[in-house]
Amino acid sequence: MKMTPTPRDPKSPPIRINLMSDTQTRPTSAMREAMMRAKVGDEQIGDDPTTNELCDRVASLLGKQAAVFMPSGTMCNIAATLVRCRHGDEILAHPSAHVLTREGGAHAALGGFQITPLAGEDGIFAPETLRAAIVRPNRYSAPQRVVTVEQTANIGGGTVWRKSDLDEIVDIARDNKLFTHMDGARLMNAVVASGVSAKDFSNGWDSVWIDFSKGLGAPVGAVIAGSAEFIDEVWRWKQRLGGAMRQSGINAAACIYALDHHVDRLKDDHTNARALARGLAQIPGIAVNQPQTNLVFFDPANSGVDTKRLISELDSRGILVGALDHRIRACTHLDVTTAMVDEMIAAVRQIVAQA
Ligand SMILES: *Cc1c(COP(=O)(O)O)cnc(C)c1O
Repeated sequence: MKMTPTPRDPKSPPIRINLMSDTQTRPTSAMREAMMRAKVGDEQIGDDPTTNELCDRVASLLGKQAAVFMPSGTMCNIAATLVRCRHGDEILAHPSAHVLTREGGAHAALGGFQITPLAGEDGIFAPETLRAAIVRPNRYSAPQRVVTVEQTANIGGGTVWRKSDLDEIVDIARDNKLFTHMDGARLMNAVVASGVSAKDFSNGWDSVWIDFSKGLGAPVGAVIAGSAEFIDEVWRWKQRLGGAMRQSGINAAACIYALDHHVDRLKDDHTNARALARGLAQIPGIAVNQPQTNLVFFDPANSGVDTKRLISELDSRGILVGALDHRIRACTHLDVTTAMVDEMIAAVRQIVAQA
């Protein structure tokens, strides 16, 4: 069975507008300059000054004792659950969560953990839903160990968890001896959209990580933060998983650059996402979510053009979007301008009109 994603048809025109994902951002020349100038050492032995600086910055941004640089967000999630859980333990998460849907079954394959879904609208479950799912330790049930949330909820539509709900989840978890883990792949989008600081969102959460290779625009890397003891344990798993690095300061420099220059500008991505959603909503038969951050989900079901055809028609115009079951995900990021958003809307309008 062929498992690689289908590559783009070599005869397709060059990509002009890339809305497929915020992972598609390219490092800017200023970011590359910062990478070139980075002081480096051996990360594995704690000797890379730029990586150490990045970890200190993120630990303080998230209000935690310590942090560690990881090759990816996926490795943050799996290392965190490997620290917290034993074989046969249970993780509680929304059914659309990355840990459940997009990590190749890592938590089952590598840890022997089961993930119990907590349903809710737009990728978010209510604190009450968690409370109702708690089982008192007994002989029949898997021991519940970790509750995890995704800020923002990706497949949920880039939705922002309310601070009050996050606080309540922490309270319920504490009462029931569950660890709390925040997948903050797009936490900084939530921060910019809501005005709540990263530290406030993270308050009370045992582990939190942010991704630098999404909207923040760095080529590689994520940083996970928590107590010093927890981070020591994460380090053990990072070593075991082959995630320890060497002159990672080159990449850490890009992440530091992103913290300094690419956080506030996320608001432009959110403005562009809202404009895109407004424009698409005016096209007959297109159903669009109301984006809170940089992810626009739309469904052309009633437009006379099905999802697959719309995606390929856009592709033939050099516009790339992502497919998600029957919906399409268009993601705004630092390589997407307002003019590109207008062009995307015009292209969809034309494709639908011609159908
Ligand atoms: C992208 C993403 C991840 C994984 O991060 P990688 O750096 O791609 O491994 C995890 N959770 C969410 C919500 C994501 O969007």
